[in-house]
Amino acid sequence: MVAQITLTGMVLSATPVGDYDKRLVILTRERGKITAFAKGARRPNSQYVAGSRPFSFGEFTLYQGREAYTLTGMNIKNYFEDMALNLDKVYYGMYFLELADYFGREGIDAKDMLNLLYASFMAINKEQIPYRLIRRIYELKIFTINGEYPDVFSCQGCGKAEELTHFSVSANGTLCQTCKDIKKDAVALNNSTIYTLQYIISAPIGKLYTFNVSEEVMTELSIVMSRWLAFHCDREFKSLELLEK
Ligand SMILES: [Zn+2]
Repeated sequence: MVAQITLTGMVLSATPVGDYDKRLVILTRERGKITAFAKGARRPNSQYVAGSRPFSFGEFTLYQGREAYTLTGMNIKNYFEDMALNLDKVYYGMYFLELADYFGREGIDAKDMLNLLYASFMAINKEQIPYRLIRRIYELKIFTINGEYPDVFSCQGCGKAEELTHFSVSANGTLCQTCKDIKKDAVALNNSTIYTLQYIISAPIGKLYTFNVSEEVMTELSIVMSRWLAFHCDREFKSLELLEK
């Protein structure tokens, strides 16, 4: 008999395969991003109908084949079905999944990435802070989890930790008033924006979606993160095009 395993995860994408099946990409806590076949998931009476959609979070029981996993059971804890009722939420949600897919790798522990996704969807559903702020927090934190985040705690020119006034993507972080001219792409940032970047990088996931920012900080945060993504990601995100329309 083939051994079965149960993994906790979230469905990132679902693609039709053959007449009745689906191929799921699942971000799992224990094994990172995996591909699993859900046999018969497109038959109306299938036990997998509801759970084999993006956003479904829960436990997936599978057996491991040579190339991929095959689903044998699921216990969905949260479908995030409210997300589907609002087009903005869907677009943000799809973008978050696409970014998680971009960073996801098989065979690595993805506990933090999964927790971040879950917390971000909860924040979108709660609607206590603007979606566009949730987006920027999510972007910076997913880079942080994956170790590709800027150094916003010291000047990339002289190393001092005070009077940081600028940010440069090509310098990989903040610059002080004296060093700002060493990089052409340096942008001036409000003190509060630098503090916000520092907070997002260092705060635990459970404390991320607990603050709001001024319009000025929001604009600067958007500039910094858009540039960071353009510089560090070697692909365009389809869901982002929809979002920005
Ligand atoms: Zn400096």
